[in-house]
Amino acid sequence: MRLRHIKGAEQQIAESPYVIQNPEAFKGNWSACFGNDAPIEIEVGMGKGKFIMDLAAANPHINYLGIERYSSVLLRALQKRSALELSNIFFLCIDAKEMTDYFAPGEISRIYLNFSDPWPKDRHAKRRLTSPVFLNVYDQILKPDGVIEFKTDNRGLFDYSLESIPEAGWDILASTLDLHHSDMAEGNVMTEYETKFASEGKPICKLVASRRRSF
Ligand code: SAM
Repeated sequence: MRLRHIKGAEQQIAESPYVIQNPEAFKGNWSACFGNDAPIEIEVGMGKGKFIMDLAAANPHINYLGIERYSSVLLRALQKRSALELSNIFFLCIDAKEMTDYFAPGEISRIYLNFSDPWPKDRHAKRRLTSPVFLNVYDQILKPDGVIEFKTDNRGLFDYSLESIPEAGWDILASTLDLHHSDMAEGNVMTEYETKFASEGKPICKLVASRRRSF
């Protein structure tokens, strides 16, 4: 998702109490940001943020960070956020590729990747959020038993991920080609893109993965 640039977006983001302005300062100490030791979960590429704000409202005992690299998109999330009374969610306007600059090893419990840009051309494969480049980033910041959850309507990206994730040393713990008609549907929280694609009758693919344990 890339919205037309909105004049003043950067300034509004720079002044927002919901956006962490100096995320590097919290590296290794995100519990200080939230004021508690609850687990921290991240959505990479949250777009307008419906999914992660719904999760935060439903799970006050979990802390959430929404990551979005485009200020014009993040601005939409901020508009929604200002209507909510939540103390367990903040946003970061960063490229997820840089997450190791902001999170210490083992600091994150779960990473959600929802309807990530498919980057169908082979020469752009490194930009896919399930490519080895990004899996290496997740590997560095997740707890040993941390998981990634990935949803997409894009079968090409899903098939690619079913190969790239095990090749990078992760186990696929569960997967489905039709989330909404599977036993993985229980407790599913819909994203903006998911709502749109589901209303068009498109099946939603989902997988959950964690790092392979060596014994
Ligand atoms: N997750 C939302 C949903 O399901 O409705 C939005 C999906 S949208 C297709 C993907 C979003 O991921 C875009 O807003 C894009 O800017 C963001 N994104 C893609 N790559 C990113 C990266 N490397 N770092 C941060 N955000 C990224």
